[in-house]
Amino acid sequence: MAKGKPPENTPNKNNSGNSNDDITVHCSFCGRTSDEVNSMVAGPNAFICDRCIQSAVDIIRNDLTAIKTKQQPQKPSRVIKPKAICDALDNYVIGQDRAKKALAVAVYNHYKRIESQEWMMSSEDVVIEKSNILLIGPTGTGKTLLAQTLANILDVPFTIVDATSLTEAGYVGDDVESILARLIQAADYNIERAEKGIIYIDEIDKIARKSANVSITRDVSGEGVQQALLKILEGTVAGVPPKGGRKHPEQHLINVNTKNILFVCGGAFEGLEKVIAKRLTKNNMGFGNTIAHSKESESAEIISKVTPEDLYQYGLIPEFIGRLPFLTTLDPLDEEALKNILTKPKNAITKQYHKLFEMENVELVFDNDALEYVVSVAMKRGTGARALRSVLENVMMDIMFDLPDKTDVKSCIITKECIENNSQPIYLYKESEKKSA
Ligand code: ADP
Repeated sequence: MAKGKPPENTPNKNNSGNSNDDITVHCSFCGRTSDEVNSMVAGPNAFICDRCIQSAVDIIRNDLTAIKTKQQPQKPSRVIKPKAICDALDNYVIGQDRAKKALAVAVYNHYKRIESQEWMMSSEDVVIEKSNILLIGPTGTGKTLLAQTLANILDVPFTIVDATSLTEAGYVGDDVESILARLIQAADYNIERAEKGIIYIDEIDKIARKSANVSITRDVSGEGVQQALLKILEGTVAGVPPKGGRKHPEQHLINVNTKNILFVCGGAFEGLEKVIAKRLTKNNMGFGNTIAHSKESESAEIISKVTPEDLYQYGLIPEFIGRLPFLTTLDPLDEEALKNILTKPKNAITKQYHKLFEMENVELVFDNDALEYVVSVAMKRGTGARALRSVLENVMMDIMFDLPDKTDVKSCIITKECIENNSQPIYLYKESEKKSA
């Protein structure tokens, strides 16, 4: 419709050229005459001017936006709720309820954030920040396991990297982008999947600079790695060498957007309790001594009071701390927890052995004394639940080597002596039902 020139169905003030036929056409909506508007569209019994058409279009557009906005909260969310995440974690991870709760909320918010980006109507909408997580706790208490289990529950790609293998650009070691290369591999080179994955960075405490006082001993490389990690933790499009390692100028790089990748960092932060104690009391010498002689649980209690300020004192730079807004601590595992770890999780070590023996048609039995002995050895090693597997594996290896050649074995009973002295288990036979050493 040409501006100012009415089309055929657009009545003109003078559409016949005969002044007797002059009809003054009014817009049925605003009452304006065709003289006052650019164009007038005729319907069977009504007219509408271009201005009213424009207003009608605006009204309809606003209504559609309002309907869309109203519908947003009703859109069924695909995000698993925090309680369901915690329940799923309970199947695999013993204890650590505080950490589970924090992780569940962080992960829920993280995937909500991803959904909110999909619905984002305008740049004025509230932007939800990333909820990367920092796990602080002794070695072998389940930090990696929690992150790994989360990835399994959410069915997203997962990779573990060691912070100590990373270096800032220009030094020997892997570029921080190599972390992403590993995630891409875990996602079978499906970049879209990788961009929603989880990366666990272990030993994050090892890249703390040695002193919070920059002017004294400054650990350049630790701080440099923290600096190098900032961008990918926050969200950036990184050029990734597909095979990891160092970037070369002539190398083909894959672009990966890290804005929706969830980073879980973990570390033991040895000595952190002293930093916290120092903050908690002015009398730091006295309190420091108490800490040195305190029991593990007391130390864990103090660690649970950690604040970002303590992490700064420990040697993490403020920008790095800022990119890990979810901060939680794990408790040391006591005897009861270790025993539960041996038997309770869905894929507990003893359950795995049971399954292997079942496939040989042999019932496997662990004496309670045997399990308690494994726990006591593991406790002495001080590496949390890590030692459980190695202690048990030592013994089970020999038994599983011999078992397939034994005939008519009905049951195999693992006693404390088996673990302690590597002696033979008790075998029960199908025919005679007699015990044999
Ligand atoms: P961390 O990362 O804290 O050093 P991991 O998560 O790697 O420790 O734990 C090592 C192994 O010990 C895990 O593979 C798991 O078998 C076992 N483990 C540790 N903590 C727990 C726990 N809380 N519940 C169940 N198993 C655990």
